[in-house]
Amino acid sequence: MNNPSQILNPRLRKLRRLLRRPRESHARRHRRPRLRFSPAAWAKLLYLRDRGPTEVGAFGLAAADDLLYVEELRLVGQQCTAVSVCFDDTAIAEFFEEQVERGRTPEQFARIWIHTHPGGCPLPSQVDEETFARVFGRCDWSVMLILAKEGQTYCRLQFTRGPGAAFEIPVRVDFERQFPQSDHQVWAAEFDATVSHESFWTANPLAQALFLEDAELLANEFDNPFEVVPPGKGPILP
Ligand SMILES: [Zn+2]
Repeated sequence: MNNPSQILNPRLRKLRRLLRRPRESHARRHRRPRLRFSPAAWAKLLYLRDRGPTEVGAFGLAAADDLLYVEELRLVGQQCTAVSVCFDDTAIAEFFEEQVERGRTPEQFARIWIHTHPGGCPLPSQVDEETFARVFGRCDWSVMLILAKEGQTYCRLQFTRGPGAAFEIPVRVDFERQFPQSDHQVWAAEFDATVSHESFWTANPLAQALFLEDAELLANEFDNPFEVVPPGKGPILP
């Protein structure tokens, strides 16, 4: 009796063989995009996150042949609070110019936006979403990565060409390529030269208005407490 697989036409046989192979699904899983960091770039991100009490923003510099592999991080001049990062326009222009002079393409230095959250939640705030849409909305593709205090991450890859798409992708440290060693001294100097802290209250006009209103109310209420307290019943000052 003939073996049934010999009776099937060759195309069907090939299809069966492909469907049987577990290797195929394995290979597909590895093709899923993920954002990978050199160990030095990841160590620098952790260091920057923990150096101050505020958020810190950076650009990921990617390898020319692997645009989702972050080789290095670069800070640019920025005003930071505990809930926001505001890059300085001139500093960004200078950073871009410098990168072009070094022979990098915008795809390598202006697509991966990274920032830290000093709290435990890595989810993007409304301000983050607005910034991402405003600054990176015209790029073919871009990535927003947020690293929170305890190591939680949120990473989203978005495409704006054609029908557009956006999805969360995993973040990994990749040890397989050569990488430079860590350098806290250099990182500290870069941090000090670029990051300026602002209090949330002074940076946020709404908070400031509320705060000032409260301050006024408090002042009106307690301007001179001695006036409203009958003589002899006032607080006793030391
Ligand atoms: Zn944020």
